[in-house]
Amino acid sequence: MREIEQLLRRRERHPQPGPPPQAANFVLLGNPVGHSLSPLMHNKALQAMQIAGSYTAFCVSDLAAAVAGIRGLNIRGASVTIPFKTAVMEYLDEIDADAAAVGAVNTIVNDRGRLTGCNTDWLGFIQALGDKIDVAGKTFVIIGAGGAARAAAFGIRKMGGTVIILNRTEAKGKALAREFDGPFYPLTAVGKIKADVLINTTSVGMYPNIHQSPVAQAALAHYETVVDVIYNPLATRLLRDAAAERRRTISGLEMFVRQGAAQLKLWTGKDAPLALMRETVRERLAPYEM
Ligand code: NAP
Repeated sequence: MREIEQLLRRRERHPQPGPPPQAANFVLLGNPVGHSLSPLMHNKALQAMQIAGSYTAFCVSDLAAAVAGIRGLNIRGASVTIPFKTAVMEYLDEIDADAAAVGAVNTIVNDRGRLTGCNTDWLGFIQALGDKIDVAGKTFVIIGAGGAARAAAFGIRKMGGTVIILNRTEAKGKALAREFDGPFYPLTAVGKIKADVLINTTSVGMYPNIHQSPVAQAALAHYETVVDVIYNPLATRLLRDAAAERRRTISGLEMFVRQGAAQLKLWTGKDAPLALMRETVRERLAPYEM
């Protein structure tokens, strides 16, 4: 009895710390995810924003179960990547208007169990063009017709530009062109068209195939600016060829950083540390540059 009283008195003198503040945890759902730099970038940002919690990548084998896990584990937000950006939509409670128009979700916001699908890729893409390109009235040739192409086409149309779609698979390219009011041509037309901007949204040239380019160097003279949404490597073969042709170039790094910053804003309501995120990714990739 006396031992218990002593223990209680000791506890009064040395109160136990209260429960830790609720951590805000975030996940990336994709397959594969091993190559992703999102965990590195987001964890650095969360630390700088003084948000207790972490961002973890999961290689998903069962998408429905993974989305249920977001609710069950009270995960605050999720990024979604290849190959789930469209498939995930059916498991969410709501799709916001922009994501519905893009036709892809790269961000999930969990508001007390209610999951909303959003898309920050299009915003990241437009912000990456920044003050280098005034989109309104310009013509953009987009190579590819997947998720990144959809995000770029949506952003360009929203900002008053026009699109021309070139794709390997005709049916997919034609469908995208129809949706965003532009013509479709096969990939071979790239050297015959003249436009303000050429954008590569295919994975051709991405690590480890860093010597590949979706466009022959001579064709690049037809475009004032060449954009690659690939950020690994930072300087793709396409961008190096474009620089050799004295074209203006924009790499996928800025789009990657901006879409990530927009996700953090949706999840936390706070502005993300853009410069830190940019440097974190650049530092990781720079040693591998040619
Ligand atoms: P996706 O939905 O799988 O689409 C890939 C597109 O590339 C398809 O149109 C496909 O053509 C085309 N393609 C693939 N291999 C090709 C080849 N060998 N020759 C010609 N065309 C080929 O992928 P995604 O989500 O759009 O991603 C594409 C790239 O964008 C990836 O490298 C990804 O990392 C990058 N990305 C970057 C950011 C960023 O923030 N910087 C954001 C999103 C994506 P078919 O239709 O004929 O199959």
